[in-house]
Amino acid sequence: MKDIIGSHVSFTKDKQLLGSVLEALEYKSTTFMFYTGAPQNTARATIDPELTLLAHNLMKKENINSNNVIVHAPYIINLANAKNYDFNVEFLCEEIKRVEQLGVNKLVLHPGSHVGVGVDEGIKNIVSALNECINSDTKITICLETMAGKGSEIGTSFEELKRIIDGVKYNDKLAVCLDTCHINDAGYDVNDFDGVLKNFDEVIGLDRLAVIHINDTKNIRGAHKDRHENIGLGELGFEIISKVVHHSKLKDVPKILETPYITYEKEKYPPYKFEIEMLRNNKYNENLIDDIVSFYKDHKNK
Ligand code: FE
Ligand code: FE
Ligand code: ZN
Repeated sequence: MKDIIGSHVSFTKDKQLLGSVLEALEYKSTTFMFYTGAPQNTARATIDPELTLLAHNLMKKENINSNNVIVHAPYIINLANAKNYDFNVEFLCEEIKRVEQLGVNKLVLHPGSHVGVGVDEGIKNIVSALNECINSDTKITICLETMAGKGSEIGTSFEELKRIIDGVKYNDKLAVCLDTCHINDAGYDVNDFDGVLKNFDEVIGLDRLAVIHINDTKNIRGAHKDRHENIGLGELGFEIISKVVHHSKLKDVPKILETPYITYEKEKYPPYKFEIEMLRNNKYNENLIDDIVSFYKDHKNK
């Protein structure tokens, strides 16, 4: 069976979903994730139905199942705090519509940061926001992401995510995105990944695990930092990450890399083609960075 692995790719105003598919294919991905605009702001272009159709035709031709394609909501929308609450709720409702227009069905969302009002109040706010946007007609699944615990982030434990899920009326539309960097930084021991999955299953239920973000981390377990590292070069290391990627219980779950670009002589190169290749082969590439740099340098000179 074909794997389901890909990376974050861009989504530009002029090429939209078609550009995202083309970028994913460059990395030999079998899925991908994108923001419908810049992740740090809420300016969004209208979805072009023609580009969307071309993108879906290309996906069919290349065997990318659109059910495995992910949209990530911008990380500045914070549903946990009263500040800008109405704007953020409205944006989420609109984003759900955009995802539906794009013909994909998973939206990853950071639960939010309570910024002083406390976890209980924060969860209450998140639940009420989700209840405003999700109704019986909602076609997509909203995947709450496990967070690293930076500042006052909510969702740093499976228990907190479960509380959100329990509060939402149409929670058959909710699932979870597990991020390997974030759970490490939140304090989970990814060395014992089977133990982590068992715990996830007990608290939330494995059937709700809909997306996995595959990242190494720059920080030790429990650091509450959230700084992603390239695969094999961080605190988790290649073996542990590859075990997650190849886990038999997760073979139907899309896996998305969000590792940093490689900077070389002021140029930035995407690592994904090479990281995906080594994960797919389950064999660590000692020359990862060199291979990336020489590939893209040559590319550019042609
Ligand atoms: Fe995220
Ligand atoms: Fe993530
Ligand atoms: Zn992160």
